Order: sequence, then C-alpha cells, then structure tokens
Amino acid sequence: MRVLICGGGVIGASIAYFLSCRGVPSIVVERTGLACAASGKSGGFLALDWCDGTPLESLARRSFALHAGLSEDIGGDWGYRRLPTYAGFAGAQESDRRPHRAYDLVWLSDRVSLGQRLGSAQTTAQVHPGRFTEAMMRAAQARGAELRLGCVRGLVRAGSGASVKGIEVDGEIIEGDVVVIAMGPWSILAAGWLPLPAVFGLKGHNPVKSMAISRLVTEVSQSLFTIRSRCPSALAATGRPAPCISLSHQGCGAP
Ligand SMILES: Cc1cc2nc3c(=O)[nH]c(=O)nc-3n(C[C@H](O)[C@H](O)[C@H](O)COP(=O)(O)OP(=O)(O)OC[C@H]3O[C@@H](n4cnc5c(N)ncnc54)[C@H](O)[C@@H]3O)c2cc1C
Repeated sequence: MRVLICGGGVIGASIAYFLSCRGVPSIVVERTGLACAASGKSGGFLALDWCDGTPLESLARRSFALHAGLSEDIGGDWGYRRLPTYAGFAGAQESDRRPHRAYDLVWLSDRVSLGQRLGSAQTTAQVHPGRFTEAMMRAAQARGAELRLGCVRGLVRAGSGASVKGIEVDGEIIEGDVVVIAMGPWSILAAGWLPLPAVFGLKGHNPVKSMAISRLVTEVSQSLFTIRSRCPSALAATGRPAPCISLSHQGCGAP
C-alpha cells in the first residue's frame, strides 16, 4: 500500500512519520516548502488539559504525552521544553491592574495585569514548530517516506470513480492507494475534488523579533498569554532560541 499525503505541514509530516513506523510507504507532496505555512510559524504550544471537556480531550492528552517521548525517537533539536503559562491583560486601567509579583515574573511590565496561571511545567510545553515539523519529516524519510515539491491539482479516480488511484501534481500522475488531504486551510480546495466538509482557516500573525529588549524574555522559561478585553484575540509572548521572541497573535476570525 502507498499513501499519498497532500501538504507538508506538521500534519502531513506527522502522518508520514507514524505510517513509516508501521512500515507503510508514503509520499508527501508539498506545494511551496516543508512547514512554510502555519506549521513553521505557530506558537508551538502544547497543553495537556486545555481541551478537557471537548471532543478533542483524549487527542490533546495523547498528543501532549507523545511530544514528550518523541525527542528520543526522532532526534534533532526542536526546542521541546516544559514551561509555565500565564494569562493577563495588556493595557488594563491602573485601577484594574492586579500585581504579578506573586508569580515572580520580574521581566513583565507593570502595565500588564495577570489574571491566572494557565498551566505549570507539568501541563504546558512548547516546541519550535518549524524545526519540529522538519524533524518529523526527516525521521519519516529515514524510514523510507518521500518528500516531493509540487502542487496537487486534483485526484485521479479508478474505474467507475468510486475509488482513487492517485493524484495529479503539476501535470504528472503519482499513483497510490490512499490519499490524505493535509493542506491546512487550503484543504477547502479539495472539497471541489471530493464530497468533503469545508475546512476554514483562522488568520493569525506570529512575528519573531530579534531585539536586545527581547533577550530578557528569552532568558526566562515562561510564557504569557495576554487577552485584550475589547477583542476576543490572544497574544502569546514567549522566548525562542536566543536572541528571539515569538509574539503569536491568534486572530478574531477575520480573514
Ligand atoms: C499565529 C499562530 C499561532 C499558533 N499557535 C499554535 C500553538 O501554540 N499550538 C498549536 O498546537 N497550534 C498553534 N497554531 C495552529 C497550528 O499552527 C496549525 O493548526 C497547524 O500548523 C496546522 O498544520 P497543517 O499541517 O494542518 O497545515 P499547514 O501548516 O497550513 O500546512 C499545509 C501545507 O499544505 C500545503 N499545500 C496547500 N495546498 C497545497 C496543494 N494544492 N498541493 C500541495 N501542497 C499544498 C501548504 O503549502 C502548507 O505547507 C497556531 C497557528 C497560528 C497561525
């Protein structure tokens, strides 16, 4: 059996890796470059219990445990670390500010009011998302998976059209038995090829700053999610391998 995976983000690379562990050959077809989209730019946060009470609870808990063990399995330096996370409000009125000295966050401005600790080093962690995706793909390739650059244009159907026999990539047909759509927000394009439910993206920004002022933050293994009261958006500030800081804004749903 050969599995064709459309999209080289963290989902495509992880599927290729776990298939390779079971001896199933796969080809990942990526349009632009491995981890070129959200998978290379995200905050990289992992949380044990933030999905509790939702249909994703068991998946999130399993994922948290898997990441902790994967560094031994796949190797590479992808910055896995446990760290506490906090929620707070930026730009709060002076009268509303709550002191954060209790949490020992000496690097944090007095203009940020801390609401609560969201997670401890036992329940929250972080990876460098791009390096993690690359490490997963490298580990898959070491076990026989392939990565090809090209844009998937559609499915090639067998016989009556009830099953697939491959994908069309820039005019070439790549044959396979199973096709996985892992194109992130572009997966909605596959709804034109198959009767699939629509998948919509949520726009966010994640500038990674390299500034002297940021070094203070990179030196502490803590992370802060600030929530501005007027807009349901979140800004996560965290250290990246020095001298960078990642500022991750997860959007309000606007395109
Ligand atoms: C600012 C921000 C912060 C985030 N922070 C976190 C976080 O802290 N923790 C967390 O768990 N998640 C976070 N996320 C979400 C996480 O990044 C995404 O859920 C995840 O990266 C999605 O991975 P993916 O592989 O599904 O999609 P993507 O990373 O979008 O990958 C899809 C790939 O498909 C390729 N592609 C598209 N069309 C085609 C085609 N026709 N042919 C071939 N290839 C194609 C694209 O080029 C792309 O590389 C964040 C996201 C953002 C934007």
